[in-house]
Amino acid sequence: MVNIGCHLSAAKGYEHMGKEALDIGANTFAFFTRNPRGGKAKAIDEEDARRLRLLLEEHNFGKLVAHAPYTLNPCSKDEKVRNFAYIAMSEDMERMEYTPGNYYNFHPGSHVGQGVEKGIEMIAGLLNRILTPRQSTIVLLETMAGKGSEIGGKFEELAAIIDKVEQKDKIGVCMDTCHISDGGYDIIHDLDGVLEEFDRVVGLSKLRAVHINDSLNPVGSHKDRHAKIGEGHLGTETIVKVITHPKLKHLPFILETPNELPGYAAEIRMLRKAAEK
Ligand code: FE
Ligand code: FE
Ligand code: ZN
Repeated sequence: MVNIGCHLSAAKGYEHMGKEALDIGANTFAFFTRNPRGGKAKAIDEEDARRLRLLLEEHNFGKLVAHAPYTLNPCSKDEKVRNFAYIAMSEDMERMEYTPGNYYNFHPGSHVGQGVEKGIEMIAGLLNRILTPRQSTIVLLETMAGKGSEIGGKFEELAAIIDKVEQKDKIGVCMDTCHISDGGYDIIHDLDGVLEEFDRVVGLSKLRAVHINDSLNPVGSHKDRHAKIGEGHLGTETIVKVITHPKLKHLPFILETPNELPGYAAEIRMLRKAAEK
């Protein structure tokens, strides 16, 4: 069975997310480790986390894909912003151990005019400060749409970051279908070719999770506007090709479409049905 889910709110606790996932037919999910727009994380209730772990095991969930806050920018010009990235990420590494063995995804960052090379240097530098051989979490760089000075719009940039990371087995990639299409990779007409290119540049063994979103804009637009599945330029057919692809179908698939829970439940149901055909 394909592992598919969506973003869930952690506001009502960890076990609550697991129950909500079950309610909508999900067997994986994403959640923000703290307020996505920044700020302090609230303490984790150990008992609540334990109950979630039991639920995940009992119901055979795939790996979870936690998401770092959007305001985290390891290659900002501003030292305060870079410091927040360091503090938030090192705290999050500890927090992730309450649900061990899962993924933690982040947007590599925007170099804001300092140049791609400098940005890559700073991102890898942060990763080398926070990743330890003892942690059970694998940190994922998200493929980006290449909006503004965003790093990660090209596979080469992700490869260059990974190349500089010392703890190679603690780093991977999360592929976002809206972002790579916006970034210029034509998964509508040539998914195989795009995956071959990813394999050549980064290595498919590094690919650990997929965000499945339709895109409001055509390939190469560098816009990053998500659409519901079937309501954008990618279309349902492309998304189904992604979740059933022999090189991808074992990965956790996370919806980040503009939906409330009933909308997510419907997309999950539709995609499961299509994947079974
Ligand atoms: Fe993201
Ligand atoms: Fe995403
Ligand atoms: Zn996005």
